[in-house]
Amino acid sequence: MELFVDTHAHLDFDLFDEDRELVIQRAIENKVAGIISIGVDLESSKRAVELADKYAIVFAAVGIHPTECADVPDRDFDVIEELAQHEKVVAIGEIGLDYYHMRAPKNVQKNVFIYQSHIAKKLDLPIIVHNREAQADLLELITSNALAQKEGVLHSFSGDDIYLENILETDFFISFTGNITFKNSKMEHLVEKTPVEKLLLETDSPFLTPVPLRGKRNEPAFIVHTAKKIAEIKKISLEDLGQITTENARHLFKKLNI
Ligand SMILES: [Zn+2]
Repeated sequence: MELFVDTHAHLDFDLFDEDRELVIQRAIENKVAGIISIGVDLESSKRAVELADKYAIVFAAVGIHPTECADVPDRDFDVIEELAQHEKVVAIGEIGLDYYHMRAPKNVQKNVFIYQSHIAKKLDLPIIVHNREAQADLLELITSNALAQKEGVLHSFSGDDIYLENILETDFFISFTGNITFKNSKMEHLVEKTPVEKLLLETDSPFLTPVPLRGKRNEPAFIVHTAKKIAEIKKISLEDLGQITTENARHLFKKLNI
């Protein structure tokens, strides 16, 4: 029985060029029922859609990541909108704010984020949100009228307790990655606080490989290690966690046809 949906993987990245086919095969063998391959710029969004065309298990999200959002020509956003109408594009993302890398000024990042939230709203697609050291501004955008689309997921969640509590008041889902399995993660209480009805699973492959595979490249088949950790914290069975989070994914990503 298939159990998990990896709602966030970068299958198009060149770290998978040598063995992408095998990576997808191993995901299927490890009870992964669906993988959402996430675009970070126009080219990677196109590649994500191509992968979705090629493999039944793969779906795509298209968007311009906050680290890639400086000097994007207007035309690119039109192409993102066109790509988003593909039957296997289930979300706009990843989009959001990144004040750690700060590759574009804050106001540019905000504008690009807001603009793409309008595309999402227009097409009735949820948004996949990236946050790095920008929780205050992100919360402000989410809770004000600035952001057009209020359905989505805060992926690879990081932030403090009060931020999480505020987010849990909204309709946004939360997903944690392999970093919750790290010895020094200090994130268990955040997982504990998040109701399973609000949780999604993700790997963020090729990054954030869970224990006990740390040091290796991450891939969707490894999602079980993060899932086990969450199930343990939530004191439910792995099967129940898989079922609930898969149901959550189907609910949020309406075009996720699995
Ligand atoms: Zn990502």
